[in-house]
Amino acid sequence: MPKYIFITGGVVSSLGKGITAASIGVLLKARDISVAHQKFDPYLNVDPGTMNPYQHGEVYVTDDGAESDLDLGHYERFTGVTTSQNCNFTSGRIYDTILKKERRGDYLGGTVQVVPHVTTEICNSVRSLDNTGVDVVIAEIGGTVGDIESLPFLEALRQFSNQIGRSNVLFIHVTLVPFLAKAGEVKTKPTQHSVGRLREIGIIPDMLICRTEKHLDKEVRRKISLFCNVDEDAVIEAFDVPHTIYEVPLEFASQNLDHWIIDALGLRAGRRNLRAWREYVDKVVNCEHTIEIAVVGKYSELLDAYKSIHESLNHGGAHNKATIRIRSISSEDIEKNGAAKVLKGASGILVPGGFGTRGHEGKILAIKYAREKKLPFLGICLGMQMAVVEFARNVLKIKDADSTELVPETKNPVIHIMEEQKMIMNIGGTMRLGAFPAVLAKSSLARKSYGTDKISERHRHRFEFNNDYRDQFEKGGMTLSGLSPDGILVEIVEIANHPFFIATQFHPEFKSRPVAPHPLFRDFIGASVAYSKKTGKN
Ligand code: GLN
Repeated sequence: MPKYIFITGGVVSSLGKGITAASIGVLLKARDISVAHQKFDPYLNVDPGTMNPYQHGEVYVTDDGAESDLDLGHYERFTGVTTSQNCNFTSGRIYDTILKKERRGDYLGGTVQVVPHVTTEICNSVRSLDNTGVDVVIAEIGGTVGDIESLPFLEALRQFSNQIGRSNVLFIHVTLVPFLAKAGEVKTKPTQHSVGRLREIGIIPDMLICRTEKHLDKEVRRKISLFCNVDEDAVIEAFDVPHTIYEVPLEFASQNLDHWIIDALGLRAGRRNLRAWREYVDKVVNCEHTIEIAVVGKYSELLDAYKSIHESLNHGGAHNKATIRIRSISSEDIEKNGAAKVLKGASGILVPGGFGTRGHEGKILAIKYAREKKLPFLGICLGMQMAVVEFARNVLKIKDADSTELVPETKNPVIHIMEEQKMIMNIGGTMRLGAFPAVLAKSSLARKSYGTDKISERHRHRFEFNNDYRDQFEKGGMTLSGLSPDGILVEIVEIANHPFFIATQFHPEFKSRPVAPHPLFRDFIGASVAYSKKTGKN
C-alpha cells in the first residue's frame, strides 16, 4: 500500500499548490521513490471539459482520454508520470457516481448523506491509485481551506488518515506569509488562522509551505512553528523563483524538504539525483538568444488557456538556447489590423486548438502569412484544420473551402465530421479523446523530427480532414505526413518548400517535458531561431 501526501491551500487561491505538489514529486523521484499524482476539485462540474477557459484555463487531456485539470499537466511535466482518469476527481464526478448508485438502488433504500456516503466515495477515489504499485500518492485538494465546498474532501481525508494510520499520511499546507510594506515586516497571522481552520476540521498539518516575497528569517520560522504546531524544519519557504517554475524543486531541495518527508513517512530512499533537473534550469538561465513566438488564438490575455503550449515552447527554447518571448495575439486583432502589422517581429507562428467561429478568419490570415513569408509555423488541432482551409483556398484555389464546424453549409468542406464519427456521437461519445497511434510518412519533416515512424499522441476534437480532397492536396504540395495506422484519418499535414510548416490534428503540447522537449516544439523553435538569425528579428 502506498503512503499518502495530501496538499491543501490556505489564505488565498493561486498559491501554486499544483507546482508545489509537482515539485515534491520531483524530489521524491530524485530519491528513487515512485509517485503518482491526484487532484481533487471541489466544484460541481463533472469534469472541466465543458468549462470556459476564462474560468478554468486549459483542459489537459490524458492518454486514456480524461478531460482534466491543468495541474495534471504540471504533474506530468515535472515528475514524468502518466496521469489517467483516476487522477482528477471533482465533486460533480463524486456526486454523479453516488447518484447513479442511488438510482440503481444500490443503497437499498438507505438515506444517502454527505457523511458517510460522499466521504466514502472520496476515500475510494483516493484509493483508486493503490494498485499502481507506487510508493507515494501525492493528492492535491483544490480551493482554499474554509471554502464550504471543500469541506467534504477535508472530512474524508481526516477519516482516511485515521483508517490507514496517521504514520502513513502527511498533510502539507500551502499558505501565504504576506509582507506589509508599511509595517516593514512579514505577517504570520493569516497562516495561523488558516492552520486554525484546518485544526477545527480535525486535520493537523505536518508541514507548511509558505509563499512569500521576502525571505523568512529564523525568528519568523520559529514563530510559525510554535503557533502552528509544526516542526521548525517543516516550515518551508516558497520564495518567488526568478527564472522559471522548474527552479522550485531546487529551492525545496536546498531546504531539505525531501529529507524531512522521507523521515516522516519512513520511506526507503536513494541518494538525491537532480542532475537532469539542474541541467535544464542552467539551460534556461544561460540562453543565448531571445526570440518572439506569436501564439494566435482566441484568448490573447489569458495565459492559462494555453498553459501546456507555453510550457512546451519554453522546453523547446531551452533546448535551442533561446529565451522565448510569447506574444499572445487575438486572431480578431489580425482580422482588424492585418497579419503583417500584428505579426511583425515574430520569428515563428503557432496557431493552437480551439472551438467555435470567433476569429477563425484571423487564424487563416496568420497561417497564410507564415506560409508565404516562410516563417516557421506549427498548427495544433483547430490550427491544423485552419492550415488545411488556408491551403485549399489560397493554393488549391477552392475559394469557399471551410470547416463544417465554422460554416456548416460550405460547398467545400475540407474539414468535416466523418460518417463513422457521427455514429460514435449518436451513441453518446462526443469527441475523439486521448492517445491514438499514427504512422509517419518516409522522408517527411514529421518523421525526421520524431526520429521514428510510429507515434502516439493525444487528441481532443470532433472534426477531421475530409478524405475526398486528399488527391487535390497532395498534388497541390501539401504532404499528409501522419495517418492513423489504418490510413483513414489524417493526423499531420506539412509543406515541403518551407523551412518549417507542420500542423497536427493532435495536441503534442501534452507530452512535452522540460528534460525531454517534444520533438515538434524542439524543431519549431530550432527553425524559429534560424529564422531570427537570418532576418535579424530580435
Ligand atoms: N474544434 C475543432 C474540432 O472539434 C478543433 C478542436 C481542438 O482544437 N481541440 O475538431
